[in-house]
Amino acid sequence: MGLGSKAIIVGAGIGGLAAAAALSKHFTAVEIIDRDSLPDQIAPRLGVGQGAHTHQLLKAGELALERLLPGITQDFIAAGAISMRVGKDVKVYDFGGWMEECDAGFSVTSLSRPAYEGVLRRRVSALPNVTLRSETAVRRFTVTDGNCTGVELEDGSHLTADIVVDSTGLSAPMLKQLVEDGHAEFQTEEIRINVAYTTARFRKPDAWRNEQLGFFVLPTSPHTEFGLLLPIENDQWILSLGRRGGDAPPRDAEGFKAYAGGLVAPDVYARIKDAEIVGELRTFRKPTATRHLIWEATKWPEALIPIGDAMSSVNPTYGQGMTVATCEADALETLLASRKTVDGIVADYLPVAGEISSRAWSLSINSDYAYPQTEGERPSNFAMNRAVAATLRKMADAHADFRILRYKLVHMIESAKALQEGEMGIRFFTALQGSMAS
Ligand SMILES: Cc1cc2nc3c(=O)[nH]c(=O)nc-3n(C[C@H](O)[C@H](O)[C@H](O)COP(=O)(O)OP(=O)(O)OC[C@H]3O[C@@H](n4cnc5c(N)ncnc54)[C@H](O)[C@@H]3O)c2cc1C
Repeated sequence: MGLGSKAIIVGAGIGGLAAAAALSKHFTAVEIIDRDSLPDQIAPRLGVGQGAHTHQLLKAGELALERLLPGITQDFIAAGAISMRVGKDVKVYDFGGWMEECDAGFSVTSLSRPAYEGVLRRRVSALPNVTLRSETAVRRFTVTDGNCTGVELEDGSHLTADIVVDSTGLSAPMLKQLVEDGHAEFQTEEIRINVAYTTARFRKPDAWRNEQLGFFVLPTSPHTEFGLLLPIENDQWILSLGRRGGDAPPRDAEGFKAYAGGLVAPDVYARIKDAEIVGELRTFRKPTATRHLIWEATKWPEALIPIGDAMSSVNPTYGQGMTVATCEADALETLLASRKTVDGIVADYLPVAGEISSRAWSLSINSDYAYPQTEGERPSNFAMNRAVAATLRKMADAHADFRILRYKLVHMIESAKALQEGEMGIRFFTALQGSMAS
């Protein structure tokens, strides 16, 4: 097929699977390699410890996956996903109050992370030129004369490829090795966000069985506690409770429920207080938001494509990680589709991926820095960014068009430029000036 005979993808998480869908259109054979065992069924796995926690797929991520694998949203629904109308079905508390209800004009799905990944894995494995190799750890990328030519496995054997993808997730072990081997040089930015999650799943009591409401409770600083409740497959809710700058919320059922009762959201507590917990409570700590500025690298091999958390991983509370990974895979596919050769793909891809991940980074870091628990020097534009965020929130309270725009920004289907353009841009600028003068 078109651009080469073989592509290798290291990591079969969300980013790796989306990248496989992209590359399968342009390479004769695509092999995905993961060190973890990959279940045939929908089940949690050790390689993605975060998988037990609430995972929201933003609209931009859903649309990217649809372009790569048409019909996947229907597959999610068939696997039990709840379809939720944004603005109506997901209640949002932030900036000290609940968002007014509206119809943002689009819906999203809600599933557990193992189910999203399981459906995606099933679709990608069914592609005729894709193979999945599990329980195989990769040790390093092999690089010759500045060109990535394949991978070396932990058993010392080598595999060659025309293009290689690094989708090894948050710990990015291959990147460290690449730098140690002298094949890459780039800056890394790390911000101590100090976030901890505890999560439980609940069987929905009969009285709530047909309800499809979710709640994102994100009280602003100085409050450090938050909660994310979503309806998922099998008539269950998943509830992640979080805290910044301290211990994780309790892992015992009683303590967990009491913690939920302390949130500014009696509606969340009312749902879970008598509900039966399914399985074990799980905890996850995320001390830092980390990004490797590979798009500004002074040295980076040809034919090596970084994707998802391996390049940039933000505070999960804003639900962007899977969407960034899938949008990067979609952008890669668009770039490949316009080429006759794979030469130069890295130079074209990195700035685009950098832009996608930087959008998520700016949105989340701007909120993180509002908390004293987030360590690090605030950037010079921090006060202005906060004023923009607070003004948008106020405009969203007062005007339905700004409410809808805010949801579109959060779901990454609209860019912040919309706040500077046309009649809405003028109204926004006037309000911003007013808020800064007062
Ligand atoms: C608590 C928490 C909650 C989150 N909530 C959300 C949310 O609501 N919405 C959202 O979009 N995102 C959320 N995220 C982020 C999301 O989980 C990640 O952004 C996403 O999983 C990134 O996908 P990935 O493919 O880059 O990495 P992963 O999905 O982590 O996959 C990496 C894969 O690489 C494999 N691997 C690693 N090293 C090797 C090696 N040497 N050889 C072979 N295989 C290897 C691993 O086994 C793993 O399968 C959350 C994260 C956390 C921590």
